[in-house]
Amino acid sequence: MRLSKAFGKTLREAPADAELASHQLLIRANFVRPIGAGIYVFMPLGYRVIRKIWAIMAQEMDAIDGQEMWMPNLNPAALWQATGRWDTVDVLMKVKAGGGREYALSATHEEVVTELCLRDIESYRDLPRMIYHISKKFRDEPRARGGLLRLREFIMKDAYTLDTDEESFDAYYPKMIQAYYNIFERVGTPAVAVQADTGSMGGKTSHEFVVPHDEGEDTYIACTQCEYAANVEAAEFVREGGKPGVLAELTKVATPDCKTIADVAAFVGVETNQTMKAVFFWWWALGEDEENASTEPGRNGRFIFVLVRGDLDINEIKLINALGGGQLRAATDEEIRAAGAEPGYASAIGLDIAKAFDQPGVFVIADFSIEAGGNFTVGANDEGYHFTGANYPRDFTVSQIADIAQADTGHHCPHCGAVIEARRCTEAGHCFKLGTRYSDPTGATYLDENGKPQPIFMGSYGIGLDRLMATIVEQHHDEHGIVWPEAVAPYQVHLLHLGKGDDVKEAADALYAELLRAGIEVLYDDRDASAGVKFNDADLIGLPWRVTVGGRGLAQGIVEVKRRDQDVRESVPLAALLSFLKPA
Ligand SMILES: [Zn+2]
Repeated sequence: MRLSKAFGKTLREAPADAELASHQLLIRANFVRPIGAGIYVFMPLGYRVIRKIWAIMAQEMDAIDGQEMWMPNLNPAALWQATGRWDTVDVLMKVKAGGGREYALSATHEEVVTELCLRDIESYRDLPRMIYHISKKFRDEPRARGGLLRLREFIMKDAYTLDTDEESFDAYYPKMIQAYYNIFERVGTPAVAVQADTGSMGGKTSHEFVVPHDEGEDTYIACTQCEYAANVEAAEFVREGGKPGVLAELTKVATPDCKTIADVAAFVGVETNQTMKAVFFWWWALGEDEENASTEPGRNGRFIFVLVRGDLDINEIKLINALGGGQLRAATDEEIRAAGAEPGYASAIGLDIAKAFDQPGVFVIADFSIEAGGNFTVGANDEGYHFTGANYPRDFTVSQIADIAQADTGHHCPHCGAVIEARRCTEAGHCFKLGTRYSDPTGATYLDENGKPQPIFMGSYGIGLDRLMATIVEQHHDEHGIVWPEAVAPYQVHLLHLGKGDDVKEAADALYAELLRAGIEVLYDDRDASAGVKFNDADLIGLPWRVTVGGRGLAQGIVEVKRRDQDVRESVPLAALLSFLKPA
């Protein structure tokens, strides 16, 4: 491509709202353009990168018997109603068309795949199968931000496995995990597979692929000794501390102006791990009206009292998973008082505690950590007072005990006991063992060897391409611009000429034609611009090779060649350029 004919220009300044390097550079270098929050145009250079990533993904999927197809983005509402997700996926984009017809804009394609199974899978002879496609996805993302990292419209590679049973699934799954490792390695962003929660996808287990790097927006937990790694929503850790030999007496003490855990611990003279933290939420079911989240009377939902040891924090995703799904907002002081607790001085002591979620009383859910330790200092449900010597279950009961605390650096590994660390990363892909989550409600079955219908065992596997492109740039850039890995660079060579002499221009034109004939992808800066402008653009766009044709070199029959990721400039005879760029 000739830069003189390029659609769009490189920009000197990044947009004011662009914080991430990838966001700034991809816009400045003319790879993408935003046309709304979370909605991007891929400019000619950006689209070439997407196609490169696409080809690598397709090769890896094809190598493990995947078959590429193309599924529609406009999904009849009935498909999503059949799996129950029409009302439960809160980010689902819905379209009302003429005649009252309703559609979902695909957020993912399990619904379409199960519909295909109903039509095309008859017996065990039709299984196992793996199908995939690379296509647009839509999310009604309330906070679209971060350039290409959180989008409302995005590009996904999503694959689906269809098996007769879990054994068959388990036999294939490692191949998919390996293919994912290969993809991330080949595009220049080696990734780590970590255990993840299953979220709105449902199913049994899942792995997330994360690309570790310091500016990542996400966090994962990794053991410093063994292989254990998980995202924070799924990470387990050891709750250290045992019951004291002697249980102290429950004693009410005045704790004036001690509203925080640190205040109380300092005032009473204990460590924070000998206190308990109470946090309050209002819970309502997914898919129910927003009114249920309101603080007005007459809504459905319930007050949730959460307890965790004072040195730990609650992870809201773990909490929601422990509650079996739903949504949460912070409870108001009125709601806390209505339950019989005092904001800032609350505990479960003296409350009418529910036996289960569907039972009357205050629903108290506690982290396992309240069992690790004793003689706790807790609120007395009386402003300005705490209890010391509080012990579970002697002094209070709870409705449910679960793993709802956030794992962090310094905690210990559940498998080997070594220290775990929280590390920054970018989430890059996901593998879900769906099981029969989608085939059960839709009746997607096959006939087994005995002619009996059995549900198809499914898995689904996604990687966002635009997100991956941004992650590549996050990891491969310097202060001058992007430094594309060869495998995904939009072109391999950035050819430019310096000076306005006709002979230089002609030589550069001829070289451009020759490189194209040799099958090399060339971006040719044939503009009449200064050396400074041309070199700056070459660094900003970041192709692997820069080839400069100048008057002085040409007189000696040489061009200057520089790799974007190295400082060395080499003089290469024109005749040897091809073999230099493309060693046999
Ligand atoms: Zn470990």
